[in-house]
Amino acid sequence: MYSEELFKISKENMPGGVSSPVRAYKPYPFFAKQASGSKITDIDGKTYIDHCLGYGPLILGHANPKIVEAITDQAQKGTLYGVPTENEIKLSQEIINRVPCADMVRFCNSGTEATMSAIRLARGYTGRDKIVKFEGTYHGAHDYVLVKSGSGAATHPDSKGIPESTTQNTLSVPFNDEEALKELIEEEGNNIACIIMEVVMGNVGCIKPKKGYLDFIRKLTIDYGIILIFDEVITGFRLSSGGAQEYFGVTPDICTFAKILGGGLPIGAIAGKQKIMELFAPNGPVYQAGTFSGNPLSIRAGITALEQLDKSFYDTLNKKGNLLRLRLKDNIEDLGLNLQVNGIGSMFQIYFNPEPVTNYTEAKKSDSDLFTDYFHELLKNGVFIAPSQFECCFLSGAHSDEDLEKTSYAIEKSLKTIYQ
Ligand code: PLP
Repeated sequence: MYSEELFKISKENMPGGVSSPVRAYKPYPFFAKQASGSKITDIDGKTYIDHCLGYGPLILGHANPKIVEAITDQAQKGTLYGVPTENEIKLSQEIINRVPCADMVRFCNSGTEATMSAIRLARGYTGRDKIVKFEGTYHGAHDYVLVKSGSGAATHPDSKGIPESTTQNTLSVPFNDEEALKELIEEEGNNIACIIMEVVMGNVGCIKPKKGYLDFIRKLTIDYGIILIFDEVITGFRLSSGGAQEYFGVTPDICTFAKILGGGLPIGAIAGKQKIMELFAPNGPVYQAGTFSGNPLSIRAGITALEQLDKSFYDTLNKKGNLLRLRLKDNIEDLGLNLQVNGIGSMFQIYFNPEPVTNYTEAKKSDSDLFTDYFHELLKNGVFIAPSQFECCFLSGAHSDEDLEKTSYAIEKSLKTIYQ
């Protein structure tokens, strides 16, 4: 059966035919058959260079041979024990070695769980209820943070089913705006448990913090006794070995991981300073738990992924990212177009916007319809990216120079077609 027919059936079985909303693009999404390295092949027989990469986790590409070997071996030894394992110590130690804020680690199963628990921890530690997030950041699909949210929620905003009482303590401010944050903190600072932020906003495309912005936030949070949470679900183990906090040299109190940490399998983690982390049950009064938390397959895949992610890996990958963005900028200029190429390290996005994009409001001014045309042209030209202006594109270590040449050519060709 082909993707078109499968989608008709899947819509009968599953709401919208998908297990996560952003996957459901029109007229129908391609159904995956298999994937290897930098490529994904659909059930209809077409192969694409993949820059969606499972929405970020696959920094080593699909079916990384060492990870496949490790999880095959682990599966034979059992996939769930319900008791601690030595490998959890190994992976937590690796995180502690790499990540500046990490004295201790609690594993869970997804980024959503990680941010939910990190916020609870901050509230438990400070005894305060209010939290601050930034417009357009996405911290998962739980109730507290689905306020002016990015990712799929930027396309399908304002979820029903969330009581106002749940979000009345969630305050949001524009990203990269020191004045707006200062004003809010001066008014509410002593009631605020935490500021949670994506250091690089990867759920409204790709937006970097302005120079000095992170230092400004760090100082403000220290002054008011507010816990600073870096949500590194995307940036963790992507920008550098120690994540965005190492890359930018600003250390939060707590951070959250998921995606890359699981080596392609589901995982989440909260890492942070000991005096805060010790509050998690069973040591402390902040409850946090999960049947599958620290599950042997994900932990083993995570260890095997991190073993391959050393400094030289990031130097090479980030260099490739820089080159690709430069090439895209040149091509766009040669075509006489005025579009924004945003990105950092191995993250990038093109905004269909004539003005620079530094926050959510500016990102939302981009022409999403044109982006959709571009997305479909790219598919025709053999490149798969996330089907939304408000997602980020990624590179992996499996992308060869030839892949990247093909990608930049496909982007140029697609832009020519949609603007002709
Ligand atoms: N935080 C950020 C920054 C994310 O990008 C995501 C997912 O894309 C999440 C949290 C939620 O992670 P998960 O989808 O694993 O629940």
